[in-house]
Amino acid sequence: MKSYEVAVLPGDGIGVEVTAVALDMLKTLGPKIDRHFNTVIHPAGAQHYLDSGDALPASTLDACKKADAILFGAMGLPHVRGADGTEIIPQLDLRFALDLYAGVRPIRTWPGLPVPLSSPRAAEIDMVLVRENTEGLFYSRGRGYVEGTGSEAAAFDQMKITHAGTSRICDFALKLARSRKSLGKKGHVTSVDKANVFASMAFWRQVFEERAEAFKDITIEHAYVDAMALNLVMKPWQYDVLVTENMFGDILSDLIAALVGGMGMAPSADIGDQYAVFQPSHGTAPDIAGQGIANPSAMFLSAAMMLEWLSLRHQDPILLKGARMIEQALEKAFQEGDVLPYDFGGRSDTAAVARAVMARL
Ligand code: ATP
Repeated sequence: MKSYEVAVLPGDGIGVEVTAVALDMLKTLGPKIDRHFNTVIHPAGAQHYLDSGDALPASTLDACKKADAILFGAMGLPHVRGADGTEIIPQLDLRFALDLYAGVRPIRTWPGLPVPLSSPRAAEIDMVLVRENTEGLFYSRGRGYVEGTGSEAAAFDQMKITHAGTSRICDFALKLARSRKSLGKKGHVTSVDKANVFASMAFWRQVFEERAEAFKDITIEHAYVDAMALNLVMKPWQYDVLVTENMFGDILSDLIAALVGGMGMAPSADIGDQYAVFQPSHGTAPDIAGQGIANPSAMFLSAAMMLEWLSLRHQDPILLKGARMIEQALEKAFQEGDVLPYDFGGRSDTAAVARAVMARL
């Protein structure tokens, strides 16, 4: 039986809880598609930092590089911070170390689950946000500084937008729109910037236009990030693929997750040319960690994205079928009314959602 090596980093908080059921789910799925997933757990995270002084051990990073794919829970705890006051967030180190430049965050409405918007058109929400992951304002992480003291003090963080970095993320988004178009979706990319104020963002816009020249089959538009925040709430159904710099992407991906019911339904992939990490968009959710009530759907859908990526990379179509099986099992579980997770006001805990999905697999 064909086997894939998966490095698994459960991390902290609910990351550990949703990872455990995702591994059960992969174990159930494997034999049904005649594939084996050799999942090996590795330490990393804020708790590991407290225990060992190292948030992302070299041995874990090494194992990630050797594996076929990386499945990641969530990392970070509010009380675990570095000397500069920022949280210990090894997932950001992983993104930079493996050059995972494309943060891919798909969301869609799920029949059977309530959504916050009252318009019937909310049923049509289906979009992917593509976030540049390696530069933008996050370039300043670990480089920011404070000058002066007392009332004279001022803090500085810098935004970095390069031609190469912007080109590759715009190409990624345009290609994604092309492949979605082949599945009957809109084939439309909205580039989100703040080109009316910042030189870096006017530069981003120019590079996006350059790259789009090679994608005449894809329709494009520009949007300012503030207007985008408004339109994503007023008429989210009109969007297909969004592409934006790191910080705007960080913020807007939480906003779009809310459109379909919250972080529990928002998967993600951080993809580079060589490596890819698959993880739910949510964090460690300290407010609900340890209660067994986290919604594992975002994690299941991230595992489905992993199978889709592996399928393309290894020309192994059965894995794409596996990805669809996970999505369909989840959809059926919601549609048939068996489960309603806590974040939707229901009483289905992590184990109950997992059981419902595995029963349908
Ligand atoms: P980070 O900064 O690490 O991304 P965050 O501050 O955005 O984290 P999250 O940990 O994602 O915060 O949690 C945001 C809110 O969403 C919390 O109220 C949390 O309980 C809820 N939440 C997140 N993930 C889930 C989930 N899988 N199931 C249920 N609720 C969730």
